[in-house]
Order: sequence, then C-alpha cells, then structure tokens
Amino acid sequence: MTRIILLTSGKGGVGKTTIASNLAYALTELGEDVIAVDANLTTPNLGLCMGIPLAQHTLHDVLRRETKLRNAVYMHPYGFKLIPASMSIKDLGGVDVGRLPSVTLSLLGQADYVIMDCSAGLGREATSAIAAADEIILVTNPDLPSVADALKTANLVKKLKKRIIGVVVNRIKRKEYELSKEEIEGLIEAPVIAEIPEDVEVARSIAAKRPVVDYNPNSPAAVEIRRLAHKLTGRPFKYRRPKNFRILERLIGWMT
Ligand code: ADP
Ligand code: MG
Repeated sequence: MTRIILLTSGKGGVGKTTIASNLAYALTELGEDVIAVDANLTTPNLGLCMGIPLAQHTLHDVLRRETKLRNAVYMHPYGFKLIPASMSIKDLGGVDVGRLPSVTLSLLGQADYVIMDCSAGLGREATSAIAAADEIILVTNPDLPSVADALKTANLVKKLKKRIIGVVVNRIKRKEYELSKEEIEGLIEAPVIAEIPEDVEVARSIAAKRPVVDYNPNSPAAVEIRRLAHKLTGRPFKYRRPKNFRILERLIGWMT
C-alpha cells in the first residue's frame, strides 16, 4: 500500500523541505521504496536540496499536460525517485494545481511512500497539495507565529477530511521562551511525533546539497529525523552514539 504523506506548515522557513528531503532518504535507508514530490510550485527547492536543480521534465510540465508523469520521475543516486518542480518563473503559466490529486493518485502502487513537500501559506497551491495527500505532517518551530499558522493549517486539513499523523517541531534550541511540546500539542490538538533540534549540520548539509541524514548521520537533527522515519514505519529505533562520541562524553564527565 502506498502512503502519500505531505509535509506542510502554513508558515514558510520552518523546515518542510529539509525534513521532506531527509525523510525521503531516511526511509530509503530503511529499505522502503520512496518517491519524493516537489509540490511547491511557486518556490520549489526540493530538487536544489537534493542536488538536482535542473530537470528536463518537471511536475509543472505534467500539470500543464505537456508531458506524461513517468517522464518527470527521476531516479536519485540516493536510491529514491524524485519528481522535481521547475525553478523557472515562466513555467508557472498554464499550470493547473487542481490536477495535483490526480498526479498522486497515479502514483498509488508505485512506491511504499510518496513524500510531498509544498509551499507555505494556505492558498490554492497548498490546499491542492493537502487534497493530493492522505496523511499530513504539520511542521512548526517552537514559537507562537509558526504554531498559529500550523493550527490554521490543521483546521484546513480537518475540513478536507485528511488525517494528521502529527506535528514535527523543528529548530528547537531548548530556550525558556520556546513553546514546550505539551503547549504545542494543546494548541494544535495533535501529537508531537518528532522534536528536531537546531543543528548547524543542517545548514552545512544544505550547502553540500546532501541530506543531513547522509552528510552527518550522527548529528542531533539527523538522529531525530531517522527516529521519525522509524516511527512512521513502525520500527523500533535504538540509537547508540558512535564509540568515539561516548569516550568524549565520559572524558567530559570526568573533567566536570
Ligand atoms: P521551509 O521548506 O519550511 O520553507 P526549509 O526546510 O527550507 O524551510 O528551511 C529553512 C531554513 O532553515 C534552511 O536554510 C535550513 O538550513 C534551516 N533549517 C531547517 N531545519 C533546521 C535545523 N533543524 N537546524 C538548523 N537549521 C535548520
Ligand atoms: Mg520549502
């Protein structure tokens, strides 16, 4: 059975693309068959994050009925498939976003997971992306503006009768002014399924055009994204830090 999962948020810049690209890779590492879809048609960057910024055929061409979907499916060197969007502004003309659900429908049976990234906001583009998915992951940061936008998105998701899997809280700095997991769960009325820390390795991995899960699998953000991938597949996640990390920790423990 194919699970079509959308990462959405309302607010921009909270980490949808980062988590979508890393989740696609982490699920692939677990042996799952994955298709990543860049359903962010106005400001796409999933392909950029995955090192494939320019593709001959894109989701835009498919939505304009200029090419068949199979022509816009690329095998990524990391082992998953990618349906990229066009980075060119002139490709926005004639695109029918309302066709997104029919695109994902035709992906049923072609993978274990379809992981979709989408645009910020709650306009037609983001709404069509929600309509095209079966399950929704809300991405937020632990601050009031992002949680307020995630809540609005959750209400839209409920209206469209789609299932919210849960909330991913990203860029946690463990500061006293941040909203806690319990506060976020209370506001959005959905469980927090992952807490991803602020991690400089994420920015480094993006510069290297690689998912942080591959760039530095033991970095704090990568570990939490891998934990999320395990959770989605129902596998237990037993993380053991590499030996040199543990020795360093013990040394610091002795010295302090
Ligand atoms: P969105 O797709 O929601 O607009 P992005 O995934 O593009 O957000 O992330 C926005 C920025 O935040 C990126 O520059 C990325 O490097 C940074 N970022 C995302 N998650 C983290 C994290 N856990 N730690 C540090 N930086 C992060
Ligand atoms: Mg994005």
